[in-house]
Amino acid sequence: MTHVHIREVGLRDGLQLVKTLVPAEVKLEWFNDAAAAGVPEIEVTSFVPSHVIPQFADADAVMRGAMGRSGTLASALAVNLKGAQRAYDLGVAKLNYVVSASEEHSLSNVRRTPAVAMEAFYAMVAERKERGLEGSVELSCGVATSFGCSLQGEVAQDEVVRLAVSAAEAGADEIMIADTVGFADPVRVRTLFKAVRDAVGDIPVAAHFHDTRGLGLANVLAAVEVDIHRFDASLGGLGGCPFAPGATGNINTEDTVYLLETMGLSTGIDLEALLALRAKLPGWLPNERIGGSVQRAGIPHLPKSFPSLARAMADPVA
Ligand code: ZN
Repeated sequence: MTHVHIREVGLRDGLQLVKTLVPAEVKLEWFNDAAAAGVPEIEVTSFVPSHVIPQFADADAVMRGAMGRSGTLASALAVNLKGAQRAYDLGVAKLNYVVSASEEHSLSNVRRTPAVAMEAFYAMVAERKERGLEGSVELSCGVATSFGCSLQGEVAQDEVVRLAVSAAEAGADEIMIADTVGFADPVRVRTLFKAVRDAVGDIPVAAHFHDTRGLGLANVLAAVEVDIHRFDASLGGLGGCPFAPGATGNINTEDTVYLLETMGLSTGIDLEALLALRAKLPGWLPNERIGGSVQRAGIPHLPKSFPSLARAMADPVA
């Protein structure tokens, strides 16, 4: 059975636009419930200056509370070398960094060109080596706005591949390709992910989709078809990007798990337990738009429906 790795990003991508400050205890309850449901990786926070995103002023405390739970990788976003240094000091096992392929998005988001932004990743890799943390700290490098950008418009596929290769050559343990503003479609997903996969070799490639225009799950399916088996998703489809006008939530974790499991792929996630956590969200975030089809309609109680559906797809004659 093919395993698909889901990274829950609700606590980071999901909360970065939320004005209500969510207490650290609630974030840790969210983390613990998701971990108990079998989510293998949870991006718990962002090491960003608290004046930029006050929601993450408690990053150190949340990270400390989340670390060390066996079976669950607690990762975090670091927006620059300083953020990475904070994470290294705390003993974070996996750090995610993101470079935007769109020059305009990069300039408005971090006031640096993509090339300069990439240098921060090289510095993180160098510091990991200096500290003797190679082999114990994973570094993931993402390429944001890989399918276009609402500020700049088109983003060239070659530019995305070039950034991915630079990150891979520098020492990234994972490449993440992000459709930050929801411009991707299944045909371009197949083309771009194939191109990136072929260019970076054995390094795992992850996908980060937003469901801005309703193509999120179609894009997941297209990525699976070209052997991409790592996906970011956010509980209740929370999320957005503060610097990308019109950006809406990430693909919904519950619905993504449902899609993958019905196809006979294994996520290791207990969907009922995940839905129990999902049910707490409206109470924690009363002012947010929280979506999800499986939450609304429930899991169909057809005995063994998932494996038989998968068999039917594999062998349409049966
Ligand atoms: Zn995102």
